[in-house]
Amino acid sequence: MESEEKPQLGICYECNIKDADSYQQPVYYCNLCEKWFCEKHSEPKFPYFVDWDTVFDVQGDPRIKASFYTEYKREGGHPDFAYLRKTIEALELEEKIRNKLIAQAIDKMVEADKQRRYEKRAREAKEREAKEKAEEAEIEKLHEKGKTLTISNRYDHMFVVPLDVYSNAEYAEYLNHAQTMKSVKVIVDEYYKKYGKRKKSEVPKKKHWWQKVVN
Ligand SMILES: [Zn+2]
Ligand SMILES: [Zn+2]
Repeated sequence: MESEEKPQLGICYECNIKDADSYQQPVYYCNLCEKWFCEKHSEPKFPYFVDWDTVFDVQGDPRIKASFYTEYKREGGHPDFAYLRKTIEALELEEKIRNKLIAQAIDKMVEADKQRRYEKRAREAKEREAKEKAEEAEIEKLHEKGKTLTISNRYDHMFVVPLDVYSNAEYAEYLNHAQTMKSVKVIVDEYYKKYGKRKKSEVPKKKHWWQKVVN
């Protein structure tokens, strides 16, 4: 292993980018790419696989071909450009060929990185959408009970509050600035002190679209 340091509790860069798995686990430092990885991903490997037809002059060098081949068969690990560069530099190649190989590697790495970032963004958007849908369903349920969530809270706190209080613009603003359950309670109590508690039947029910009368 390239890393001699003791594992720490943290997030594996590779798990996070691959599966959006950002839970804490023992992670090891990679001295080459300077990122942290779980045990499975701790070993550096070549950052991409080679399309032999497009790689210039590599077929002619059995050492490069062999090293790509070993990398290709390896399980786990993390794509590491610094590692690839180090491996190429260690081979006694003609300088021109070596520089060309490294330049080609940089291009591929940038391309692969772009693709990974794009996939990550797409996955995050999907997760966000699922979360929003779940929230909507929860709010729908709460509305039936005369309650709702503080969806516009400045600090992203989702407090369960009475629907009539949150429907009042002034009190909604107070609730959107609330940071604790305690202050939520104070705001709600104050609202009822001012407006009195209405009977449940008087609380306006939010209508579903299918309940609207169409003329
Ligand atoms: Zn990992
Ligand atoms: Zn690394």
